[in-house]
Amino acid sequence: MSNYQDFLLPFEIKGSAIRGRIVRLNHIWQDIKNRHNYPDSVNSLLSQTAVLTTLFSSLVQYDGIFTLQILSEHGIVGTLVTDITSAGDIRAVARFDQSRFANSSPKNPSESTKESHKESHKESTSESNGKPIAENLENTDLIKTLMPNGQMVFTIDQGKHTDRYQTITALGESTLEDSATNYFKQSDQVETFIKIFTNGNECGGLILQRMPDSWRDDITEDQADEKFATITTLASTLKDDEILSSKLSAEDILYRLFNEFKILTFDSQKLQDKCRCSKEKVINSMSGFPQAEILDLIDQTSKQIEVKCEFCSREYKIDPKEIIKIN
Ligand SMILES: [Zn+2]
Repeated sequence: MSNYQDFLLPFEIKGSAIRGRIVRLNHIWQDIKNRHNYPDSVNSLLSQTAVLTTLFSSLVQYDGIFTLQILSEHGIVGTLVTDITSAGDIRAVARFDQSRFANSSPKNPSESTKESHKESHKESTSESNGKPIAENLENTDLIKTLMPNGQMVFTIDQGKHTDRYQTITALGESTLEDSATNYFKQSDQVETFIKIFTNGNECGGLILQRMPDSWRDDITEDQADEKFATITTLASTLKDDEILSSKLSAEDILYRLFNEFKILTFDSQKLQDKCRCSKEKVINSMSGFPQAEILDLIDQTSKQIEVKCEFCSREYKIDPKEIIKIN
């Protein structure tokens, strides 16, 4: 079956121990984007995070939830979170300081030392002379301007009775693509090639990894080195209008890049934009709150506690008795 939209396709270069994944998010990303309505630069970072999450999750065996968080304690954008379940349900959210974002100016691009801003949200849409700098950034400036001194946190959660696996790594000053490549180089010692693309409406990417046993009986290590170098050189010719075009299937792209090699493709993973929230989960998450705090949350008109899921924007109305009862 050919894959044109919202796919993740695992593949292998035959006769080598090079494995790869190719991903494209169309409808999934458009739904996420339309729901949140973030500024373009935040969308760019979040879509890249979603691509990385999908690629990384498919490199590990797990049954549960794979989460990637990009965090910057003093950044204008504090948090990007995307997660994916082993069933392929993806969701994403960004948290950022709207006031600092709107007031970012070329003279003071990072604004990172100003702590005095209270979140006054929508009132502070920049000073009439042009757009805030945070809105018009090159990809290579996004991280250093919006998320300096950041971290990448990967978490695998396989349910109640299992250990959570978590790894934390420093985010570089350059792109997410670079940080992710370095992460593999340093921590896993696995040679990895990553390319991420985003154009506002679609996002996608490609990852190639040279597995540790990449020299086999019939080829020398030098030959394996050369093969990986050749494959990554070919992969680096991938263009955004190929990976993001729904006129080209995953198989078409792999053929364009690697037609001199034999490619073995595996079953593609079904992906969808789907949140895991439920009324029960919201109630459980509040069950540890002190009673006074719960009473404080009650909406005086409806007499209910109104909670909106930050991922999917679904609204829940909860009778406070339901929370107090289980406390
Ligand atoms: Zn939700």
